Amino acid sequence: MKTAVSSFTYQTVATDGAARAGVIATAHGEIATPAFMPVGTTGTVKAMTADAVRETGASIVLGNTYHLMLRPGAERIAALGGLHRFMDWPGPILTDSGGFQIMSLAKLRKLDMDGVTFQSHIDGARHRLTPSSAVEIQHLLDATITMVLDECTAFPATPDQAHTSMQLSMRWAAASKQAFVPRPGYGLFGIVQGGVFPDLRRASVEALTGIGFDGYAIGGLAVGEGQAMMLTVLNSTVPLLPRDRPRYLMGVGTPDDLIEAVQRGIDMFDCVIPTRGGRTARAFTTHGILNLRNARFADDAGPLDAACDCPACTHHSCAYLHHLFKSAEMLGPMLLTWHNLAYYQRLMRDMRAAIVAGRLHDFAAATRAAWRPSEDAA
Ligand SMILES: [Zn+2]
Repeated sequence: MKTAVSSFTYQTVATDGAARAGVIATAHGEIATPAFMPVGTTGTVKAMTADAVRETGASIVLGNTYHLMLRPGAERIAALGGLHRFMDWPGPILTDSGGFQIMSLAKLRKLDMDGVTFQSHIDGARHRLTPSSAVEIQHLLDATITMVLDECTAFPATPDQAHTSMQLSMRWAAASKQAFVPRPGYGLFGIVQGGVFPDLRRASVEALTGIGFDGYAIGGLAVGEGQAMMLTVLNSTVPLLPRDRPRYLMGVGTPDDLIEAVQRGIDMFDCVIPTRGGRTARAFTTHGILNLRNARFADDAGPLDAACDCPACTHHSCAYLHHLFKSAEMLGPMLLTWHNLAYYQRLMRDMRAAIVAGRLHDFAAATRAAWRPSEDAA
């Protein structure tokens, strides 16, 4: 019997302005876009079983190379059958390259032209990550989508700093491509850098498309520049990206960020906002962002979000969720993480349907109109 060999492909199904609805076909199944990837940092989407993540409608999750290489180790995960089996997620998995976490978490990091040497934040052990070792580790993890090693340019950065940083990332992108072992249905994504400078972003896109990748990510945003600046960068960068490849905006964002970015042609997102919010009583709903610790929920017998079919909304009241957080019960973060991920997935499905129907602009306006002033003080 011949096994069907699927290739890694992206196909646009519909467009509405710059926005696109599409399908990414991979070795581990299809991803309908625009897509939101829940973050499963250490091989788990915090507070969620894999079944629960699936029930929210997610088709792809993200794993963090930095965390997994340190503990339990990429070789161990490979010996145990790969990350899909290890975390019971047979669907597509995207792994980051580890570079961002080294810069934000590791101790005594030292960057050179060929990679970065650092000490683990767990036990202080010395490690080195290079473009080729980052790709090899992601191969051991069996990542469906591998990300090149890059340096996330700090914000703010001078044009000279951003230029030097971007050129290093492009050098590493070429080395990552060299190290990547092509397999049917597996993809390697390049990462556009260049800070907030349009000419550097353009040069980065030109360098990456010259190398050739299965998808293109935009990195170095949502690092303190603010939404207006981020959207300005997207306005000048997204139109430069190849139309026949998926486009991934890394580390973004709030529901409002997702709507704005989808309208500008972004296909994929990842962010800790819904899961982290779920652990800190921050709820994303049809009516905006709520803080379930707020005393006004103590006697509220109604559901968190009447439009939501998650267990938190169909089985429980706001008063109960409020009580769980006030009592520091672990069920509170579990239920609210489920709800927030369900909200994010519904937002993506609704945007996809709106793109197909050619009414994304109206959908965006109606969605925002339903948001009350944010309680987002916590
Ligand atoms: Zn819900």
